[in-house]
Amino acid sequence: MLKKEFKKKDVQRARNLITGKTGASTGTQIGYNKKTEDYKEGDVWTEGRKTWTIKNGIKQTVSKLDVIKKEVFMPLSCPCCNKIMKKRLDKPNYKVHKKCFDCVVDFEHKLRIRGEYDDYKKKLVTKNSLDIVNEMESYLLDAVNASNSSFVSEDGVIEKWTGGVNKEEWTQKIKEASKTRREHLKKELNDEKGTKGTN
Ligand SMILES: [Zn+2]
Repeated sequence: MLKKEFKKKDVQRARNLITGKTGASTGTQIGYNKKTEDYKEGDVWTEGRKTWTIKNGIKQTVSKLDVIKKEVFMPLSCPCCNKIMKKRLDKPNYKVHKKCFDCVVDFEHKLRIRGEYDDYKKKLVTKNSLDIVNEMESYLLDAVNASNSSFVSEDGVIEKWTGGVNKEEWTQKIKEASKTRREHLKKELNDEKGTKGTN
């Protein structure tokens, strides 16, 4: 669980880093009651040279959000066959394969004929897990490093915490956990005998 002991100086230092005042003395500002602008979920504002917003309680740059949007939202027509993607199964298939359901069925049918389907499916599951680990890692790192008033608990819940976050400790923990999981998955991906290795 989280250790809540930390020095006010550490919090101020982290705050200076976030607000760009890296050269500022950490000793002169007592505590951290300095008035900060109150932004709420969905607000967009400019700070420094970046545009920021708050999404799911986490302060983040708008450009980062744009990238996420590109990942989440799919185009109207399938990049593979150009047909409009409107079937219920198009969306989940696009998320994974970047093509429509029909194209995926077609592609997998060809693999079955070639006897490559089982191997493909197994690799896809593992690959997907790897993607999730990578996404989770960058999400958690962002959460820990972008916000000075909230943190992500071990079960992934974002909690407000009016003291600050031990960023270094949490960054290290997140990286270690992700690395362990990644290595496990990569081993699975490379282990051709590992037929029980579903996920
Ligand atoms: Zn298609």
